[in-house]
Amino acid sequence: MAAVQGQGYIGQALGVADVLAVSYFHALRYRPADPHWEGRDRFLLSIGHYAIALYAALIEAGVLPEEELETYGSDGSRLPMSGMAAYTPGMEITGGSLGHGLGIGVGMALGLKRKRSDACVYNLLSDGELGEGATWEAALSAAHHRLDNLIAIVDFNNQQADGPSTEMLSSEPVTDKWAAFGWLAQRVDGNDMAALVAAFDAARRHSADQPRVIICDTRMCKGVPFLETREVTHFVRVAPEEWDKALEALDAGRPQ
Ligand SMILES: [Mg+2]
Repeated sequence: MAAVQGQGYIGQALGVADVLAVSYFHALRYRPADPHWEGRDRFLLSIGHYAIALYAALIEAGVLPEEELETYGSDGSRLPMSGMAAYTPGMEITGGSLGHGLGIGVGMALGLKRKRSDACVYNLLSDGELGEGATWEAALSAAHHRLDNLIAIVDFNNQQADGPSTEMLSSEPVTDKWAAFGWLAQRVDGNDMAALVAAFDAARRHSADQPRVIICDTRMCKGVPFLETREVTHFVRVAPEEWDKALEALDAGRPQ
């Protein structure tokens, strides 16, 4: 998709791909042919610029047809560069204005409880969004309302637009902060599939009536070594001849 446009937030997308794989192929309950099925788990992408990664997951999940992949970012496409609920099946919210996903998640989780639904709300947010006050207001209210049907997933790639998140406005010790706000807080290697599966299972099975958060330490550009080490990774510049090399590196790293 990014190669079609010659650009894209591929650093974030590659970093979070493992988290999305576990979300869509282990944790989430949904019906690919019926994205609005009332019993579905909701997956809220508050980081709208990560849409390219979610489109890939939705294509793999059978929610979106693969043929649309090459329309990414074009006029009239259902796959705009930033995620928009009105455009794309499976895209629950319009993200990015950053910092609003968790607040929307709190409202949805409350609504589902009132409807006596057993569906869960997942919200994928970024470490940069932990610098947004609204995120912490939502965290407070989720614990206050005992939202055991809300699971936040923080993509902790230690990167935001202007530099490393821990240098811009540190949220460390991040696990302790969430726990102090009343959440079940876990921190895992977000590129370790087994660790992710265990953390998602523990979050879902946890019996106390409190919201849950999984902080995922991820590596930007994961799986493409020559990009992983590139210094400015918030918006990776990829030369035209590098796209094929990147795809080759991903293929070489594919599990057997
Ligand atoms: Mg980040």
